[in-house]
Amino acid sequence: MSNPAQRATKLFVKTFGTKADALFQAPGRVILVGEHTDYNEGFVLAAAINSYTVIAAKRRDDQRFRAVSERFPGQIMEWQFGTEGDLNADEWVNYLKGFTQAMAFSGLQAKGLDLAVVSNVPMGAGLSSSAALEIAFGTALNDTSQLHLSPMAIAQLAQRGESRMLGYPCGIMDQMVSAMGETDCALVIDCLDLDSEALQIPDSLSLMIISSPLDPGAMATAYRQRREECQQAADFFGLDSLRHLEQAELESAKAKLDPTLFRRARHVVSENQRTQSAGRALERGDIRRLGMLMNQSHASLRDDFELSQPEIESLVQVMSEVIGERGGVRMTDGCCIVALVEHELTDAVVQAVEQQYRALTGGEPHIYLCAAATGAGRIDA
Ligand code: ADP
Ligand code: MG
Repeated sequence: MSNPAQRATKLFVKTFGTKADALFQAPGRVILVGEHTDYNEGFVLAAAINSYTVIAAKRRDDQRFRAVSERFPGQIMEWQFGTEGDLNADEWVNYLKGFTQAMAFSGLQAKGLDLAVVSNVPMGAGLSSSAALEIAFGTALNDTSQLHLSPMAIAQLAQRGESRMLGYPCGIMDQMVSAMGETDCALVIDCLDLDSEALQIPDSLSLMIISSPLDPGAMATAYRQRREECQQAADFFGLDSLRHLEQAELESAKAKLDPTLFRRARHVVSENQRTQSAGRALERGDIRRLGMLMNQSHASLRDDFELSQPEIESLVQVMSEVIGERGGVRMTDGCCIVALVEHELTDAVVQAVEQQYRALTGGEPHIYLCAAATGAGRIDA
């Protein structure tokens, strides 16, 4: 099949009977360490990946939008800037409407667009296809309406759109990484002051993602629950967020705090420490330490956040037996598995997953060998 840019160009012509002005793309992302920390104003280490959502776009002179996606063929979705209406329904175009609604709420204006969306970021697979869609759209609007928004401003509008307008309580990480990723690098992000730094991933490592054997719907429910539990724990300590909780303060409250909330808070506090350590390990090129921190992050998600499932545990076990201390492996985004491994082990890890995935999960694996990629931008037609 042709690449997403070619497909977007063709889909645009087929739908609107004319050529698009320009193409824009935004990547998916994967979290290396820092799970459920972004909405707690903590730290994240994550990379944009070389799977993209591409939008072919043509500016309009009015403020109307007409959008089509290859994944939902035959539907042309239309709306007017500033009159997006209620965005509660589970409809793909709401991710775009959420963006324009967030713009209107911030007092911004934009011209309309005709646009065609094509993507090779799998949906609901832990790689944030939603952020890739929002950021590709925001990047297209920014360029075609000459808004002069920074990548950070686009990320903030996208996050506001998804969380406040659509009601999916996401943090800022997905959008920041999709907007600001750098080739061969992971970003370490401080989600309190929105500071980020790009750290080179050593050449000797492969980035591998294994598709989820789990139901994404159940995972989304667990995500909301954990988010609420974190807020309850922060409320107990009278804090805005768990970012401000010290380990000693948490330990000294153990007897008084509900045991589930205690474990949730312990994951967040320890995950923030691990993420910062992982950033330093990456800077030093210390693969052993980075791998260990990824493995510990997995254990904390399993034990303190109670998010793992037997199928995930078995797969992580199979992979970590091959990887040993030459990389790390963990579940991520509630459903899939990410591994960073020395190149020489890549084939052995892939083989182990291929041999065991079906028996352990009843499904077929999708194994993505990725590269850390650059963030959103305009691309050549
Ligand atoms: P993810 O982890 O992939 O972000 P989400 O449930 O947050 O999972 O977002 C997936 C949703 O985003 C899809 O159900 C769809 O509504 C929308 N989406 C993502 N990519 C596309 C696309 N290429 N075309 C249309 N809608 C998309
Ligand atoms: Mg998403």
